[in-house]
Amino acid sequence: MTSPASVEPQALEAYRNSARTWLADFAPPPLPQDYRLRTGALREWHSTLYRSGWVGIDWPSEHGGQGLSLEHALIFIEESARAGAPQPFGAIGLHVVGPTLLRYGTRQQLERFAEPLLSGAETWCQGFSEPDAGSDLASLRTRAVVEDDGFVLTGQKIWTSWADDSDWCAVLARTDPDRPKHKGISYLLVDMHAPGVTVRPITQITGDAEFCEVFFEDVRVPRSNLLGPLHGGWELAMHTLGHERSGYALRRRAELEVSYRNLLDAIRREGSGSDVAAEIGTAYVTLSGLSALSRRAVRRARNAEVPSPLDSVDKLALAKGEQQLFGTALDLLGSHRAAPLTRGTSLDGAQIVKDYLHGRAASVYGGSEQIQLTIVAERLLGLPRAR
Ligand SMILES: Cc1cc2nc3c(=O)[nH]c(=O)nc-3n(C[C@H](O)[C@H](O)[C@H](O)COP(=O)(O)OP(=O)(O)OC[C@H]3O[C@@H](n4cnc5c(N)ncnc54)[C@H](O)[C@@H]3O)c2cc1C
Repeated sequence: MTSPASVEPQALEAYRNSARTWLADFAPPPLPQDYRLRTGALREWHSTLYRSGWVGIDWPSEHGGQGLSLEHALIFIEESARAGAPQPFGAIGLHVVGPTLLRYGTRQQLERFAEPLLSGAETWCQGFSEPDAGSDLASLRTRAVVEDDGFVLTGQKIWTSWADDSDWCAVLARTDPDRPKHKGISYLLVDMHAPGVTVRPITQITGDAEFCEVFFEDVRVPRSNLLGPLHGGWELAMHTLGHERSGYALRRRAELEVSYRNLLDAIRREGSGSDVAAEIGTAYVTLSGLSALSRRAVRRARNAEVPSPLDSVDKLALAKGEQQLFGTALDLLGSHRAAPLTRGTSLDGAQIVKDYLHGRAASVYGGSEQIQLTIVAERLLGLPRAR
């Protein structure tokens, strides 16, 4: 990612003002509750953002981005959250797989994939987890048999977010079963419309079918779709996960801060019990911590210090913030028996319940809480490996 060493505060302020003005003119109406309709509306929103130069803000201009800094990109995220405008639809492409494509992609791969990824013409998903390989990702069993002109891919992925809306998937596959398990994995860019790919959506507790099972049956993947070295996919996988953990915390923080302010306003207007008042204080402390961590995350991203065990700290803090905040909101709904808060206030009871339920996933996606804590203990604090 392009990130000049430091950006003039006046330049950032001017950028913030232009984002605010644009969002005031263009922010979309509230999104439909129905998942399919919402996805359609989000795709349209992505296109509008792209046409107006608000997608790929910190991507290099030679690959279709705006060539600005991460600080610029975060400003647009903050202003979008304030305006109640959603993020671009293709989050996995932009923020999870995209950074790895930019870091390890060949010139031809970047020419082929970057522009459609940014424009939203092609959407990406991340095929890492398998039924028996989540926390222990290196034991994955999806196999890619190496042939002269490419690979033949067979296996199953699970929990693949937005797979049924995706055109491409970043797949980790075992290309050499005889090497130690971390060393026989390759990172393949797989066409989701190729013969042999089957996607089955899974409905989550929120009622949305956001993630899926993906089956690969003798899917042919051309050699040109190998990202990075053959059998060297583990390093790329760690790069992707580092950006997922740290980058999502950076972006989501802005939205959590807006939800926090809305909640606080509602408590001021409607009142609450002492338990909720104490909880909102705790949420304030947790979000302040997340905000401080985000300044460090910007510095780390600027200095290309991702991946690092510090990504796990950001991820843990995000999960705490998310669950704490929406837990408080849910308790507030409970203390008012929901109705007063859904009448004449900025709070939406159904949305709070959904946010609360979705927040439960924050300690699982991108690597579970226990695994992140183990990374912190062993790699950051230097404690002996757990037996
Ligand atoms: C909303 C959501 C979206 C997701 N999207 C994607 C996606 O797009 N692409 C993708 O590839 N994956 C995705 N995932 C999957 C996610 O990365 C995995 O669920 C996660 O890594 C945990 O793996 P698992 O579910 O197999 O649980 P398991 O690894 O089976 O773990 C089960 C429990 O055991 C604990 N545990 C396991 N091993 C240890 C250990 N050694 N020490 C201590 N505790 C341990 C875990 O912490 C967890 O609590 C998504 C998950 C969710 C919830």
